[in-house]
Amino acid sequence: MDADVVVIGLGSTGSMALWQLAKRGLRAVGLEQFGIGHTRGSYAGDSRLFRSAVHEGPRFVPMLARARELWFELEKESGRHLYDECGALQIGDSGSGSLLKSIESAEQFGLPHEVLDAAALRARYPQHRVDDNTVAVLDHRAGSLFPEASVLAAVEAAKACGAQVLTNTEAIDFDEDGGRLKIITPDLSITCDKVVVATGSWTLRLRPDLKGFLSIIPLSLTWFMPRHPELFGPDRFPVFIRDEDGVHLYGTPSHDSYSIKVATEPLWPAIPSPDQVPDFSREDLQKIGGWAADFIPDLNPEPVRHSMHHELCTPSGLPLIDLDDDTGILLLTALSGRGFKFAPVYGELAADLVTGKPNDLHDAGFALGAQHR
Ligand SMILES: Cc1cc2nc3c(=O)[nH]c(=O)nc-3n(C[C@H](O)[C@H](O)[C@H](O)COP(=O)(O)OP(=O)(O)OC[C@H]3O[C@@H](n4cnc5c(N)ncnc54)[C@H](O)[C@@H]3O)c2cc1C
Repeated sequence: MDADVVVIGLGSTGSMALWQLAKRGLRAVGLEQFGIGHTRGSYAGDSRLFRSAVHEGPRFVPMLARARELWFELEKESGRHLYDECGALQIGDSGSGSLLKSIESAEQFGLPHEVLDAAALRARYPQHRVDDNTVAVLDHRAGSLFPEASVLAAVEAAKACGAQVLTNTEAIDFDEDGGRLKIITPDLSITCDKVVVATGSWTLRLRPDLKGFLSIIPLSLTWFMPRHPELFGPDRFPVFIRDEDGVHLYGTPSHDSYSIKVATEPLWPAIPSPDQVPDFSREDLQKIGGWAADFIPDLNPEPVRHSMHHELCTPSGLPLIDLDDDTGILLLTALSGRGFKFAPVYGELAADLVTGKPNDLHDAGFALGAQHR
């Protein structure tokens, strides 16, 4: 088989890169070791937060603006509902550094937002328990993304533009082949000019040289039942992030009128492979449930559902988007726990690198050489 470009891994970013590459008319082939929209990717779990006014730094705000355009474009092209722009509340103590940075981002880039003090928060969002020194920023260009549907939509859109997709097909190796690249799977090999390695937590299998630099972190999700589900729909309850009393919680509204997602930051150490995610202990579930019901008193503290996931991380928390011009291998991976909202823009950046198209959003800090010496 012969192609211009092969994308290995059709998860969050690989699906978007394939869509963008196929749109440009390249002979693009996508390989996915499982099916499309499977339960084991870093994207699994029904919803992901999208925010525009982020505390991670001003370099990300224009990227998120472009990502938002692309999310709407993918919705239109696929005819699928992928994004519910219900807003995002970032809630914290009045002196919280990350809250102040988000407000600064919103002001600097003229993003539609409101700053709410404790009284305003209690009046508008009585679902949240707030202390007197609590402040929030309401980001209007924010909401819930639907990740499995998004991956499926991007792959379908790529196929509609001519991409070939091979599912249940693992890339087990790649090698140079007379100035081109040869991708090897158990049943066939594909010769191509460029390869996009978008393999998420499985990257170390193909790139064992990056062990010790990249780590796989377990991340959990938990869902809780409110006593009054009618108060938790996306029309009344924006996605949220809370950082108070040393606890970090985030969540999405109820998109099924049954439960809401409330999750916390990593509680478990790094693991050697995505097949070795830990299980929750009773103490873990009690702890997370206690935090959830403390911040949102209407919730029953026992999770009605929980699941364990994983994410490939760099030490800096920056993603790896790096084309090695000598080999034609492009790494598009290690999104470090916050990458889903960026997926379409990272896919576009990858496609621009492959085709040599300049893109002002490209960040030299995402190169492997800038992060790993
Ligand atoms: C629990 C949790 C909550 C999160 N919450 C948020 C959030 O609210 N907002 C946000 O923006 N981000 C969030 N993130 C981060 C975001 O989901 C991830 O950054 C993103 O999904 C990573 O995408 P990826 O493309 O790198 O990996 P994946 O989406 O996992 O894709 C990798 C794909 O490659 C395939 N693959 C791997 N190896 C091979 C191979 N050799 N051959 C063929 N196929 C292969 C895999 O099967 C998989 O489909 C969260 C992450 C987790 C785990």
